[in-house]
Amino acid sequence: MCPRCCMMIWNEHIETMSRDEMHQLQSENLRSAVKRVYEFVGPYRRKMQQIGLEPGDIKSIDDLHKLPFTTKDDLRDAYPYGMISVPMEQVIRLHASSGTTGKQTVVAYTKNDIDLWSEVMARSLTMTGVTRNDIVHVSYGYGLFTGGLGSHYGAECIGAVTVPVSTGNTKRQVQLLRDFGATVLMCTPSYALYLAETIEQAGFLDELKLRVGIFGAEPWTEEMRLMIEEKLRLSAHDIYGLSEIIGPGVSCECGMKNGLHVAEDHFVPEIIDPKTDKPMDEGEYGELVFTCITKEAMPLIRYRTRDISSLNYQKCECGRTSVRMSKPKGRVDDMLIIRGVNVFPSQIESVLMGITETAPFFMLVVDRVNNLDTLEVKVEMRPEFFSDEVRVIERLRNRIAREIESALGLSVIVTLAEPKSIERSEGKAVRVIDRRKLY
Ligand SMILES: [Zn+2]
Repeated sequence: MCPRCCMMIWNEHIETMSRDEMHQLQSENLRSAVKRVYEFVGPYRRKMQQIGLEPGDIKSIDDLHKLPFTTKDDLRDAYPYGMISVPMEQVIRLHASSGTTGKQTVVAYTKNDIDLWSEVMARSLTMTGVTRNDIVHVSYGYGLFTGGLGSHYGAECIGAVTVPVSTGNTKRQVQLLRDFGATVLMCTPSYALYLAETIEQAGFLDELKLRVGIFGAEPWTEEMRLMIEEKLRLSAHDIYGLSEIIGPGVSCECGMKNGLHVAEDHFVPEIIDPKTDKPMDEGEYGELVFTCITKEAMPLIRYRTRDISSLNYQKCECGRTSVRMSKPKGRVDDMLIIRGVNVFPSQIESVLMGITETAPFFMLVVDRVNNLDTLEVKVEMRPEFFSDEVRVIERLRNRIAREIESALGLSVIVTLAEPKSIERSEGKAVRVIDRRKLY
């Protein structure tokens, strides 16, 4: 039990293990994972042979950096079954990630993999303070996307009442939240804001019993956390995962909300410099890389997530010793380079969340005019501040532009949109339109 927040630890043996014991456990599991992929997964065998590496060269987790990386392209090239390391009769589930940019990527699970997923999700829910006495409303999509089913397993595993609502029909969701007395909400943070807006309109807030929110599948800022907590009157926690590694449950925030505890007995994290591919030091921001050391069907080695984070190996005040990753800042691919300045949408979100007159819905449009990059920030006004008076609008527009400019060191064009004019998202929000790529 944690003395400060009275939270239980689901798997105390693993989650509070000493660093030495964890090192030993990871080393053993890494050795067998590498042997297995070398023997059964053609693309890994070829990659290792190309650099003259044999499974016997990997003696401990300290040798992890010698292994080749895996990228999303490797998964696309091996579509659909080329990365699977067990006979198909042992596979009981497939998931796939959206193929918005080309071919889909497929991931496979054995029965043990599904059990492992339930275990890491049970740890995650427990660390946010969820118990068997809770009613968990799951608004992540069910289906090929892993968000819905992963959350579902975690909630059932700890014995909570699980409500598999999935996405869509927001008015009905709000009604069910009230009627079923949900105490826990699981969805994307952008959908949480959309729900909050709908709840406000319905005048239901006082009738809700929500106390914990577990939000993930897209990067979100501290400012957004405060806004969601205030609007939904709950404690908001970040959960992280990706289908290539297992789905949600790779890491999650405990009550301290100071980094996400990684289930590192299964998924070993590293931070690398995305340009040089070299490992980076503790505390430095870079690309997050994971190695699956216990999975059976598809144990990916050094998978490059494209997410930007940092690692902290200090023991947490909650009592857990597992390494913490910082709340992801964004994705390597989301980083916009505008007139030579690196910009993350999350930096703009931070500024906009602090402005009273605008709603938390925005869109970034990047363009190139006369060979010069432009960044337009379209943000929606709150109905109570919306005005037809040009002078009022102009003053607000200038203030927002100044604040963004001082945060980014870059001039931007601010457009104030009418209330409710920016499309609401039921899953991952699309916040950037880069017209430069469309030409
Ligand atoms: Zn902790």
